[in-house]
Amino acid sequence: MGERPVVIFVGAGPGDPELITVKGLKALQRADLVVYAGSLVNRELLKGLKPEAVAVDSAPLALDEIIGHLAEAVAAGKKVVRLHTGDPSVYGAIQEQIAALAALGIAAEVIPGVTAAFAAAAGLGQELTLPEVSQTVIITRREGRTPVPEREKLAKIAALGATLCLYLSVGMIDEVVADLLAGGAYRPDTPVAVVSKASWPDEARVEGTLADIAGKVRAAGISRQAVILVGDALAARHQGVAEKSKLYDRDFIHGFRIKS
Ligand code: SAH
Repeated sequence: MGERPVVIFVGAGPGDPELITVKGLKALQRADLVVYAGSLVNRELLKGLKPEAVAVDSAPLALDEIIGHLAEAVAAGKKVVRLHTGDPSVYGAIQEQIAALAALGIAAEVIPGVTAAFAAAAGLGQELTLPEVSQTVIITRREGRTPVPEREKLAKIAALGATLCLYLSVGMIDEVVADLLAGGAYRPDTPVAVVSKASWPDEARVEGTLADIAGKVRAAGISRQAVILVGDALAARHQGVAEKSKLYDRDFIHGFRIKS
């Protein structure tokens, strides 16, 4: 019975091994080969593999080498998982892998995961979409060695004033702050939270404002593997004046609730 050749891309979640989906965990437990992003994936997850399963760290590998491992195992009839940190669709570089596999006649299935920003928000106990404050969440990064399209330069995105989740940028915290202030919508007292290693045992959180966050991040020694959350929504937690959501408002009748 020839099964369709497939590589399953699995989102490992942000770190805590319990934050993988049930579906992702089952795929891992069935896998014969797991090629994992060793720089960020929690190796605890590899303990659940079959004893005979092979795990390969993709960190030192080039794209063609990664595809080589995946394709070879698929051709041998093995069950193959490509394990990415967080959610594979966010800075996961999966499109080039999916395309390379497709060129070899191999399909890709993607199982989503909890992305870092959501783990950071969870750790803070923070809603990112507060009524009347911000109803928009932007996942972005500051340009570094990896270019960002002109219209998405951080200072331009900062003109909106939405809740921002910045990945891959904490090492440029001074430039991030300058860009955000240049955008016009944020102020020196706009709240910022920086969460490193969200959901790991050594998770660290630093909170402040655009005026003081850079110094606090440096003092905490955070230089990588952190998300920066920015926006007025973050202030509500401290002020205790969160605007009430209409969803639970007695007088707000919507499709799934019948007024009694
Ligand atoms: N696909 C991943 C992101 C990979 S890019 C996801 O969905 O989360 C790597 C960046 O993600 C890091 O530079 C950092 O900004 C962020 N990141 C990944 N794991 C993190 C964690 N546990 N805590 C904080 N930030 C994390």
